Amino acid sequence: MDCNRCDEEAVMHAAYSGAHLCADHFRESVEKRVRRRVRRDDLVPRDATPEAPQTWVIGLSGGKDSVVLTQILHDTFAEDPRIELVGLTIHEGIEGYRDKSVDACVELADDLDIRHELVSYEEEFGVRMDDVVEDDPENMAACAYCGVFRRDLLEKYAEKLEADLLLTGHNLDDEAQTALMNFLEGDVEQIAKHFDASLGALSEREDQAEFVPRAKPLRDVPEKEVALYAHINDLPAHITECPHASEAYRGEIQQLLYGLEENHPGTRHSILAGYEELASIAADEFSGDDGAELQECTQCGSTTTREICRKCSLLESLA
Ligand code: SF4
Ligand SMILES: [Zn+2]
Ligand SMILES: [Zn+2]
Repeated sequence: MDCNRCDEEAVMHAAYSGAHLCADHFRESVEKRVRRRVRRDDLVPRDATPEAPQTWVIGLSGGKDSVVLTQILHDTFAEDPRIELVGLTIHEGIEGYRDKSVDACVELADDLDIRHELVSYEEEFGVRMDDVVEDDPENMAACAYCGVFRRDLLEKYAEKLEADLLLTGHNLDDEAQTALMNFLEGDVEQIAKHFDASLGALSEREDQAEFVPRAKPLRDVPEKEVALYAHINDLPAHITECPHASEAYRGEIQQLLYGLEENHPGTRHSILAGYEELASIAADEFSGDDGAELQECTQCGSTTTREICRKCSLLESLA
């Protein structure tokens, strides 16, 4: 089958759009979607100048998603003195898994000549995920601990690096799963928070002075296309799965979405588009209503709704 736009052989077919694209046109189409998302989400503020550049910290895990995001943002902004990119890699202490993906991060940051910061649970908290899984004092899934620790470090370092924006490589599949999970859990306030934290255009979000805003400019690109992009461009992405991966519910939703997408191409796009619209309405509805009062954790000083933040209480039970 030929490419729809030239005479080259197509390397991909997207059932949801009907497109057949050759390597060059596929590459172009992925990059276009990311740039369009950067524009639509208003990520570059009008008052950004070369003298007062914006610092964008990218959560760089070494997996295909964050590697592709970093590469495309670099290609887009390398010549733009208003934006400075920093890669932030978090080592969870997972033997044989994270070591290789850290190598991929170092290689990429080196290739692109961008600043790279590496932080670890071990140095920051004195714990490694491999040991946390062994101990498991709260009788929880590995990802429940790991997610709290990761969020804490992303926030802490985004602040330390004086980030204006914290970007992560969530793709269309990730975001459609999260959207569906939030629907099914029926928690509208959670949906409103999702909008203000990472989903809405920056200009439309409620100001969250305590947190560095987040953005996910890869969320229009399906997972398979992210993988193909990494492969075609020969990017140093690390592909194996974490041995502690345990988000059972997400796995169930993922399977459900694969089936729906197969029979009804375009389902992921329509779920996410509808969800974003609803989230925006929900955010308006809950605006000004913070729910619980925010305060400083008495142990580490981070912003939390309780006296001791979740991270500190988990660390205490692990001690
Ligand atoms: S899969 Fe779970 S345990 Fe593994 S790195 Fe991700 S959040 Fe942590
Ligand atoms: Zn072509
Ligand atoms: Zn704390």
